[in-house]
Parts: sequence; structure tokens; C-alpha cells
Amino acid sequence: MRLGLQGCRASGSLPRMASDTLFAKIARGEIPADIVYEDDLALAFRDINPQAPTHLLVIPRKAIERLSCAEDSDAKLLGHLMGVARKVAAQEGLTDFRLVVNDGAGAGQTVFHLHLHVLGGRPLGWPPG
Ligand code: 5GP
Repeated sequence: MRLGLQGCRASGSLPRMASDTLFAKIARGEIPADIVYEDDLALAFRDINPQAPTHLLVIPRKAIERLSCAEDSDAKLLGHLMGVARKVAAQEGLTDFRLVVNDGAGAGQTVFHLHLHVLGGRPLGWPPG
């Protein structure tokens, strides 16, 4: 297995690739999810354990383990994910919301397929825990 910066797996490396994660399986339709938006590049679905009245996850179809593993060539895709977050927040009627990206286990990441949390529907404290 080839490891790059931050332990990112190069595409073509098989063990524990981002393409094996729960979210990659949701993106491929192999595991059910409450999908609220999808297009060629991304999808958004409800978090199974919501931390706010609205808690959505926006993921790229491309298997990127974590934000640190994204490359400069992913810039357009990363911007697209922000756009999807904006659209689904509006779709949910959120006027105020928070986006969270946990990058790495130490930051709370548990599923190693890049995702944006979209949280809203209640007052959100700062700083987060
Ligand atoms: P992380 O901790 O990696 O930033 O966020 C992973 C999120 O995925 C958590 O908020 C968790 O509740 C959610 N999650 C874990 N398993 C599933 C699942 O099977 N389906 C859905 N919809 N969400 C999940």
C-alpha cells in the first residue's frame, strides 16, 4: 500500500480505502440512507444520529479519506460541496446553520470519507467541544 501525506492512501491501494467506507457504500446505493440531494459529484443525506434538529452530511462521490487528503486538483469539487451544503440548508428552511469538517480521529472524524456536517434548527454554541 502506498501512503502519502497524512497517511492518505493513493488510489489503487486496496486495504481500508475510502472506497470501502460506509459513506462510499451509501454513495453507491449499497446501504440505504435518507438522501435529500444528489448529483453527479456529490450527495447529501440525514445523519443517523442527529446532533441538531437538522443534521445533514454532504459527501463527494469521489473517495477522499479526509480534507487533508484532498489535492489542489480537487478545488472545484470542494467548492461544489460547499454549494451543495448551501442548497440543502436552504431546502431545509435553515436561515442560520453551521458547517463542520472533522479532519482526523483527533478532531472527531469516525468515518474516513470526506464529509461536511450541516447543522441547524437550534442555537449553536461557540466554541464547539
Ligand atoms: P464524523 O464523526 O466522521 O465527523 O461523522 C460521521 C457521522 O456519520 C456521525 O455524525 C454519525 O452519526 C454518522 N453516521 C455513522 N454511521 C451512519 C450511517 O450508517 N448512516 C448515516 N446516515 N449516518 C451515519
